[in-house]
Amino acid sequence: MNIPPLPGHPHLHYAQGQLQLEGVRLADLAARHGTPLYVYSRAAMLDALAAYQRGFKGRKARICYAMKANSSLAILQLFAQAGCGFDIVSGGELERVLAAGGDPSTVVFSGVGKTRGEMRQALKAGIGCFNVESEAELEVLSSVAQALGLRAPVSIRVNPNVDAKTHPYISTGLKGNKFGIAHERVLATYRRAASLPGLHVKGIDCHIGSQITEATPYLDAMDRVLDLVQAIEAAGIAIEHIDFGGGLGIDYQGDAPPAADALWAQLLARLDARGQGDRMLMIEPGRSLVGNAGVCLTEVLYLKPGEQKNFCIVDAAMNDLPRPMMYEAFHGIVPLAQQRAGETQVYDVVGPICESGDWLGRERTLAVQPGDLLAVLSAGAYCSAMGSTYNTRARPAEILVDGSAAHLIRERESVSDIFRSERLVPAKI
Ligand SMILES: *Cc1c(COP(=O)(O)O)cnc(C)c1O
Repeated sequence: MNIPPLPGHPHLHYAQGQLQLEGVRLADLAARHGTPLYVYSRAAMLDALAAYQRGFKGRKARICYAMKANSSLAILQLFAQAGCGFDIVSGGELERVLAAGGDPSTVVFSGVGKTRGEMRQALKAGIGCFNVESEAELEVLSSVAQALGLRAPVSIRVNPNVDAKTHPYISTGLKGNKFGIAHERVLATYRRAASLPGLHVKGIDCHIGSQITEATPYLDAMDRVLDLVQAIEAAGIAIEHIDFGGGLGIDYQGDAPPAADALWAQLLARLDARGQGDRMLMIEPGRSLVGNAGVCLTEVLYLKPGEQKNFCIVDAAMNDLPRPMMYEAFHGIVPLAQQRAGETQVYDVVGPICESGDWLGRERTLAVQPGDLLAVLSAGAYCSAMGSTYNTRARPAEILVDGSAAHLIRERESVSDIFRSERLVPAKI
């Protein structure tokens, strides 16, 4: 019997009792490539992108994938081919874009701590825009560009100070965090930028946070940004584009974020009502493009019953999938073989690492035996990309599923890969 797709995961479903992503049986991938294993659905990523593309139909717009969410080369290649630009936060990410065949002129460079070296690298590559986050950075960028005989295209990241009390998920658009230029300093900063010889003012930018599940904070931020655009242009400085950042949430556990096209219908109506509908628009979505396109497969190693808790010890750990440890984040965990009725227990699902923070899920009702395979859901964003090799655990392989085809897009790392760059000291004589 086939049951419908799992909530939030339109391409993940059970067929004949076996979990499949698109047309590929996940247990077959685990048998072939081992665990832990990341598996992504190409269709899920393209569907998520299509919702934004529908939302912007007929508008001047660019979707810059915030690649820190998942920067595997094949995923960048997919988004480049689908017409995306990229939001990068380091020189390393720029190298990845170029290696994946991305067009540097579609790249915007965000982040509060760009080094002079990264600025030079990005200027030489010809990126589309620097999203500048402080007045000090403006001065440095201008001098770096001047030394190269160039003018750096800039947009200034403004901090719209959207009220966190009513919208608790917003964490980067408030006074008191390190991002962006405070509202009251924005005009002076634009005046300074326009006067610097190494800069060319292109746009304005904001990014108010992540995993946002309501439209209201976006609408509030849009109003504030449009007020600023009015004031900046009244001062004689042209703003070619408005970049509204990323941040749209996904369904991890019954979260109900607006669909990207519905959200943008609302935002564009607001923009039109303010007579700004024909502006060049940019956005920087990350999580909402890839988060629910991926799963992490893991094998149950041991069951450890206890007086207070039962532990289900699996072969994936916080180094592979750090969100639960870092944010106490919830990820759904489901068996690859459909559950046998009546054998369930409540488990904390934990990894092998020597830290109590090494857990993937708490108090999960599962029917499992050692050797069973589980899928950790919503693992496409900020999972593999945040992974480490803590405990000298090699990073998992990654697979991109496309219909009934499965492409290996990252080989499993070897332990010798991990310590290749390390050196012993010369022996004492
Ligand atoms: C992280 C980040 C994004 C993407 O955020 P998501 O929540 O993944 O959509 C976009 N812009 C900037 C500046 C970021 O730092």
